[in-house]
Amino acid sequence: MKVTKFGGSSLADATQIKKVCEILTSDPERRVIVVSAPGKRNSSDIKVTDLLIALANAKISGQPGNQELEAVLNRFSSICEELDILEVMDSIKETITESVSQPVKDASRFMDATKALGEDSCARLVATYLNKIGFKATYCNPKVAGLLLETEVGGHVKILPESYDNLAELSHLREICVFPGFFGYSKEGEIITFSRGGSDITGAILAAALHASVYENWTDVDNVYAVNPNLVKDPFPVTEITYDEMRELAYAGFSVLHEEALYPAFVRGIPVNIRNTNNPSSKGTMIVAKRTHYDSLVTGIAGEKGFCAMNISKYLMNREVGFVVKVLSIIADEGISIEHMPSGIDSISIILRSSDFTPEKERRIIQRISLELNVDNVSVNRDLAIVMIVGEAMANTVGTTARAATALSKAGINLELINQGASEISVMFGVREEYCSYAVRTLYKEFFS
Ligand code: ASP
Repeated sequence: MKVTKFGGSSLADATQIKKVCEILTSDPERRVIVVSAPGKRNSSDIKVTDLLIALANAKISGQPGNQELEAVLNRFSSICEELDILEVMDSIKETITESVSQPVKDASRFMDATKALGEDSCARLVATYLNKIGFKATYCNPKVAGLLLETEVGGHVKILPESYDNLAELSHLREICVFPGFFGYSKEGEIITFSRGGSDITGAILAAALHASVYENWTDVDNVYAVNPNLVKDPFPVTEITYDEMRELAYAGFSVLHEEALYPAFVRGIPVNIRNTNNPSSKGTMIVAKRTHYDSLVTGIAGEKGFCAMNISKYLMNREVGFVVKVLSIIADEGISIEHMPSGIDSISIILRSSDFTPEKERRIIQRISLELNVDNVSVNRDLAIVMIVGEAMANTVGTTARAATALSKAGINLELINQGASEISVMFGVREEYCSYAVRTLYKEFFS
């Protein structure tokens, strides 16, 4: 069985939905389809989720939100009309209108319940259309199916482990299961949504729960590319990539899948196939546990801004037992997670995200490090970008880091720091933010031209 997930651009209008249903029904193994809410039809369009957020905000601030509600209903009714399934519009309209007419008791719960209506309505619509064209399909409600979520302190959404057993029951369904992405329910029965783009996570959870042979994630690009296509024209397509490589690249700004979507697939070893709804003949990119082949030495190159380095030096630091633990616990006390930690004999750099390391926290941390650890110097280097080259083939190849560093130095880019993890699948360079894109292009030229 294959679990297939279609993103918002694949469901933006009736023409796209017809393509989706054609893809789905062309392979009898595609038994489960996870849908996003209709996305943008063109670059100036608004995603249904954004229309719903505007509607929720209007209601939360005490306005009637009639215009916002109309915009949402219009999107769905135009799709239903074109697909000739206006009969489902009544139930979609009723569900949306009833949900947003509830009194706002808790703004964040109200927002989640409203946001989820895009995926929920889309799933009802797609199930109706599949039946209309002669395929037995059922809309699956995440509450009935048992997709249980919990919001942790700090707002992160976690899946409750029993969800996997609950969802495994869907394998007994004889019809195609049309499952709305992006949300589940708390044990108390309230809707909880993932962060934006979260339908990818729903798809991965279902693929894991059902032990799918593959998790197909249909979007609007033929492949994952070796570099951001906005930076380089016609970049090298990646046909195969491991979970680990993908994770490293996602960290440095690759945004093909939701960052958390790989984990459920990784745990159960389900291969993920990125495909293009607008070009189904392309085989796309396979994300796997183990590579079958290497098309290139480097798999991908990515860069992300928004980092800073806290540099600490203390004479004979390497002899002082527990020094690093103390530094880390001071940072942990501020609730900040550490990104990297390149070190020398008597110095250590702690790389943090600038968004976490606010000036207020910086002041407190530096004060404590200076006072409690008696260091010689502590300074902060802000406005850094992390640029990464990632590839499992690099592990057995001599000189990759040298090639990269030479290319960057020839381009006149100063390296603020270098870090290579023990796994040798990635090398990270810290550069000034203004050099981020230039550094990515320089490295791409070195390894792919
Ligand atoms: N519709 C939601 C969003 O726009 C979730 C998703 O599409 O994955 O973020």
